[in-house]
Amino acid sequence: MKYISTGHPLPKMHYSPLRNLLFIALLMTSLASCGWQEEVIPIEEDFSNTNLTLGNPTDALPTYLDSDNFLIDLPQYTVSYSNSRGIPNWVSWHLDLSWMGDAERSSYFSRNKELPTEWAPVTTNNYKNTGFDRGHNCPSADRTSSEDDNRSTFLMTNIVPQAPRHNQRVWKKLEAYSRDLVEEGNELYIIMGNYGEGGIGRNGYAETISEGRVTVPKYIWKTIVVLPEGDDDISRIQADTRIITVLIENVNDDLLDWGEYRVSIDEIEDAIGFDLLSRLPLSLQDAVEGIVDEGPTK
Ligand code: MN
Ligand code: MN
Repeated sequence: MKYISTGHPLPKMHYSPLRNLLFIALLMTSLASCGWQEEVIPIEEDFSNTNLTLGNPTDALPTYLDSDNFLIDLPQYTVSYSNSRGIPNWVSWHLDLSWMGDAERSSYFSRNKELPTEWAPVTTNNYKNTGFDRGHNCPSADRTSSEDDNRSTFLMTNIVPQAPRHNQRVWKKLEAYSRDLVEEGNELYIIMGNYGEGGIGRNGYAETISEGRVTVPKYIWKTIVVLPEGDDDISRIQADTRIITVLIENVNDDLLDWGEYRVSIDEIEDAIGFDLLSRLPLSLQDAVEGIVDEGPTK
């Protein structure tokens, strides 16, 4: 339930030394009192961060001490990054009409310069000739409100090695359907993530690419909370709110329609140990997390 948020709006990619000191100080405080493996740093919750309206699934923090659950909080979307895997654990964002505009697709895949150089930040070269696409988590087309917003989606910390047919067919259709829902008067809260190791790309099976620098996830998942456009969103989520969750193996097959891969949130949580929708009361999580969506897919 608790996480550090920097509020909104934020200057893009800004980690001030002062903030880092603050986090380290807080971490030391918590270390002194309780041992930090199990404990969540007690920080007042910030409910103004729309990217984390549904919660922070892994209690990620923007401290360099936890390089495999490192919070990257941008105005456009929020990431938990795993340095050892070289990919995000999850990416969370809000989608409504205000994010959709005329900005052109940047296609400028870039290293995240805010990561410490010792972490050897992943670059687009790590994906070259690997047989895997540079698969967006927060899609380029979900952030066309400005050039900066669009460019932010091409940071490599928003990218996973994704089988080309997975990316360009089934996943693309799910992304397009999401935007259709927005055009029809809805706003969405979306979390995308992955787990496991080993996928099948254009050149066959691989557990990693670029000599181990980047893990190829075995599974890719997404959960989408659909609300009619409105205010006070978290309190409008009810037991009958439409929540679409899909889980699709990262393979280069001719996959079926995305609707065939719908699962419950419980299935994702059981597989990876994240807590999705952690901002919702437990009784409501219990009510919605076991449901498999049966709504339309077009
Ligand atoms: Mn894609
Ligand atoms: Mn949950």
